[in-house]
Amino acid sequence: MQSLIDNFGRQITYARLAVTDRCNLRCQYCMPAEGIAIVPRNELLTYKEMYRIIRVLTELGVTKVRLTGGEPFVRKDFMSFLEMLSFNDLLKTINITTNGVLIQKHIERIERLTKVKNINLSIDSLQASKFFKITRRAVFEDVYKTLELLEKSSLHLKLNVVVQSGFNTDEIVDFVKLTETKNIDVRFIEEMPFNGSGQREWKEQWNLIRILQEIQTAFKIDKILDKKSSTSKNYQVKNFKGTIGIIPAFTRTICNDCNRIRITSTGALKNCLFDDGIFNIRDFLRKGASDNELKILFLKLVKEKPENGFIAEANRTQGKVSESMSTIGG
Ligand code: SAM
Ligand code: SF4
Repeated sequence: MQSLIDNFGRQITYARLAVTDRCNLRCQYCMPAEGIAIVPRNELLTYKEMYRIIRVLTELGVTKVRLTGGEPFVRKDFMSFLEMLSFNDLLKTINITTNGVLIQKHIERIERLTKVKNINLSIDSLQASKFFKITRRAVFEDVYKTLELLEKSSLHLKLNVVVQSGFNTDEIVDFVKLTETKNIDVRFIEEMPFNGSGQREWKEQWNLIRILQEIQTAFKIDKILDKKSSTSKNYQVKNFKGTIGIIPAFTRTICNDCNRIRITSTGALKNCLFDDGIFNIRDFLRKGASDNELKILFLKLVKEKPENGFIAEANRTQGKVSESMSTIGG
């Protein structure tokens, strides 16, 4: 089988696909209060196009897909797409990132799909009023209920917590406490400027080291093994059930063994989170490209994967990073 290997010898085995740019929340670090200009529906990839792109990628060695957005569950018939995708026999793992507002009624159906292993639930505060300030929607109770349901389910639960200076740094310790009795991975993510020009002012830089120091004010933690190509540096408090991860998304110390590409909801291929989309796959498909042509294209495009996120950012043609993460698929 031909495989996707970049010029630095890194093999691409993981694709992150944004199934929509729409979202039912307005997280302050992701978009402004009025939301972002969403694209017309016909500019979004159709499910058939997404299926085809992923099929071709799996024929080139991709074994893992993350479905994200925008909010995946706001797109009509997302569950049918998920079921369709799980028929791809070359795919081993499908993970989903969600804000948890609309997933509850689908949990049992998802549990039946053996390829769906992890659900990443985004929850940035354990306090309803603060959660409202961050997301600008009064849905804390729903999201917390989702957390409890997912924890009881057969799916593995990871919490995504974006560490926001001046907002939730005082809750880092509370989030770690959750791992005492819950078999979950709490992952602290460095905030990045992908905010749809929501113009968040960062009072202080909360990077991996700072987050680690904050955790160590209350707990003695042990380093645990980071899986190859893991985005997080992982730790555990002795005898706690769950684990803690810190994702240096902004300081970018994880590029060396990156195995990922991204496809945005409008079909742009991103070799790196920090590039501005290097080719539109949707347009290529809609001009009638065959699967073989698509394969040749992917093999060529991954060779352009930059060595790291700083180089990707420096090579941008559309100015500084400011697009919303909901258009990229975080
Ligand atoms: N709507 C879903 C959700 O929130 O989980 C999926 C899409 S969201 C863009 C994916 C992840 O990106 C979420 O965990 C979110 O917190 C994170 N994210 C969004 N904007 C970010 C930013 N500016 N910096 C760091 N993480 C961000
Ligand atoms: Fe929506 Fe997720 Fe962005 Fe929040 S982080 S606004 S839930 S896409």
